[in-house]
Amino acid sequence: MQKSARQTLWELTAGQRARYAAAIAAMAIGTVFLLFVPYVMQLALDALATGEASLTGILIPAGLAIVVAHAVHGFFTYLRGRWAAAASEGIVRQLRHRLYERLERLPCDYHDHVDTGDLVQRCSSDVETVRVFLASQVVEIARVSLFVAVAIPIMLWQDFRMTFVSACILPVLVVSAVVFFRKVRTAFQEMEESEGQLTTVIQENLTGIRVVRAFGRQDFEIAKFLARNGEFRDLEFRLFQIFAKFWALSDFLVFLQTGLALIGGAYFVLRGELTLGQWVLFFWLVRTIIWPVRHIGRVLADSSKATVAIGRIQEVLNKDAESEEASPDSPVRGTIEVKDLSFSYRDCQPAINNLSLTIREGETVALLGPPGAGKSTLVNLLVRLYDYEDGSIHIGKDELRTLNRDAVRDAFGMVLQDPFLFSRSVRENVVIGKSSAAEHEVEESARAADIHENIIEFEDGYETMVGERGVTLSGGQRQRLAIARALLKQPTFLVLDDSLSAVDTKTEAQILRALAARRGKQTTILIAHRLSSTRLADRIFLLDHGRLIQQGTHEELIAIDGPYRRLWRIQGTLEEEIERDLSGATDR
Ligand code: ADP
Repeated sequence: MQKSARQTLWELTAGQRARYAAAIAAMAIGTVFLLFVPYVMQLALDALATGEASLTGILIPAGLAIVVAHAVHGFFTYLRGRWAAAASEGIVRQLRHRLYERLERLPCDYHDHVDTGDLVQRCSSDVETVRVFLASQVVEIARVSLFVAVAIPIMLWQDFRMTFVSACILPVLVVSAVVFFRKVRTAFQEMEESEGQLTTVIQENLTGIRVVRAFGRQDFEIAKFLARNGEFRDLEFRLFQIFAKFWALSDFLVFLQTGLALIGGAYFVLRGELTLGQWVLFFWLVRTIIWPVRHIGRVLADSSKATVAIGRIQEVLNKDAESEEASPDSPVRGTIEVKDLSFSYRDCQPAINNLSLTIREGETVALLGPPGAGKSTLVNLLVRLYDYEDGSIHIGKDELRTLNRDAVRDAFGMVLQDPFLFSRSVRENVVIGKSSAAEHEVEESARAADIHENIIEFEDGYETMVGERGVTLSGGQRQRLAIARALLKQPTFLVLDDSLSAVDTKTEAQILRALAARRGKQTTILIAHRLSSTRLADRIFLLDHGRLIQQGTHEELIAIDGPYRRLWRIQGTLEEEIERDLSGATDR
C-alpha cells in the first residue's frame, strides 16, 4: 500500500515522540517564565506610580525576579533546542536509512529512468530541508500557539478594549502568512526540480569528463550548464522575491501593531482608564507575541519546503522494490533452459524476441552477434536484473522467477562490459564476491586473470588504493581485476560480457587458457566479439535482433554456409595466431 508523506513522517517520529514532548515541555516552562516578566514590571511600575514603591520592598526584588526569569528561560531554551535536535536527528537518520535501503532495492528498470543527480538531491538537500523543519519549526509551532494562548487571556483579564487594540492586526498577519505559504510551496517545488536538473548536469559532466574533453564539448556543456544555472537562478530569485515581499509586509504589520498598542495605551492612560503598569504590560506582551506570530510566516515557509521535500522523498519510498522470493533449499545450479523468451525494456522495441536455447551444466558457451543483438539483455534476465513476462527460463528444475534474487545472483559471477571498481584497495575490490577469501585464493584468481604481475608492481601491492584516492587503472587492467573478482567467487555460472575487449590478444589468450583449465567445473557464458574467444566454447549461439539465428559447435557452424562462417572468414585471418596459441591451451 502506498503511503503519504505525512504517514511516513508520523511513523518515523515513533521513537522520538517522548523527546519532542520533553522539548515542548521545556519550551512551555521557559515561556511561562518569560511571560512572568511583564507582570512583575506592571506591579513595580504601578507601585511607583502610586508612591507605594520602596527600593528594597519592591524594586530590587522585581529586578532580581526579572533577571532570574530570563536566566531560567535561557536554560529551558537550551534544553528545548537540545532535545528537539536529538529528536529530529533521530528521525532524519532513519529517513536517510529508509531512502538508501529503498534505492539499493529498487529495480534496475527504475534506475534506468531517473536522473542520478536528482536522486542525489533527494538524498541530500531534500533530507536536509526536512531536518531543518523538524529541528526548529515543530517546537516553534507549539511555542507560537502557547504564547498566543497564554498572552491573550492575560490581556483580556486586564482590559478588553486594550486587548482589541493590541491584537487586531494579529489575524491579518496570520492570513498573510498563509497566503505566503501557498506561494512559497509552488515556487519551492519548481526550484527543487530545477536544482535536481542542475545537479544531474554537474554529475554527468564529472563522470564523463574525459568524453567531454576528448570530443571538445566543453563549450557545449558549459552553455548547457549556463542555461540550467540561469533557470535555477530565476526560480530561486522568484522565491526570494516572495520572501522579501512577505518580510516587508509583515514588518510593517508588526510595527503597526506595536504602534497601535503604544498610542492606544497612552490614550487610555491619559483618560485614567489604564494604569501605567498595565500599559507597559500590554506593550511588553504585544512585543513578546508579535514576533513569534510574524515568525509563523517562516514556519509555514519551512513547512511548505519540508512538505515538498518529504513528498519527493516519498515518491522514491513508494516505488516498488524488487520482489523477494523465499530462498531455495538447494543452491541454484543446473541446466539453463530458455524457452520462447521475449522481453522489451520500458517503452522500447523487443530486445529479446521469442528466444529458445539450452546451456547445459558445466558447458562453456559463447554468445555472438552484432551490438544490440540482445546478448547482455539475456544475461541481465538470467541474473534477474529485469523481470520478463513472456516465455520462461529454468535453472535446473526451477523457473527463474520463483527463485530468490539474491540466491540467483550469488550463483553467478559477472564480469560486465565496463567493470566498476570502488575507491578502495585492490584487495577489497577483488574480495567483493567472497569476503572470507584467503590470501592465496586472492592471488590465484589474480594470476588466472593475468593481473597478479601488475598488482605486485604497484607501490603497495594488493593494498594499493584504486580510483579517486589511488592508482588509475587502464581499461584492460580494470577488466582483468573484475575477472579476478568473479573467478575468486568460484561461481556456478561465470559470465564474461565482452570482458576481454580492452586487453591485448596475448593477455586474452592467457586468460582464455586459465578459463580452459577450469572447463567443466562451472558453466561459462562468454559474450565476445573476437572469434578467438568463441573457439574455447563447446557451443556457440549466434543472435541477431533478439533472435537465435544459428547454434552449434565451431566445427558444425564453420561447415555450413551461414553468418558464422562469413564472420569467421572476415576475422579468421587476424585470429590465426591466437588460434594456434589457444589450441595448445585446450589440448592441455
Ligand atoms: P548486446 O549486448 O547484444 O550488444 P543489448 O542486450 O545490450 O545488446 O541490447 C539489446 C537492445 O536493447 C538494444 O536495442 C539496446 O539499445 C536495448 N537496451 C539495452 N539496455 C537497455 C536499457 N537499459 N533500456 C532500454 N533499452 C536498452
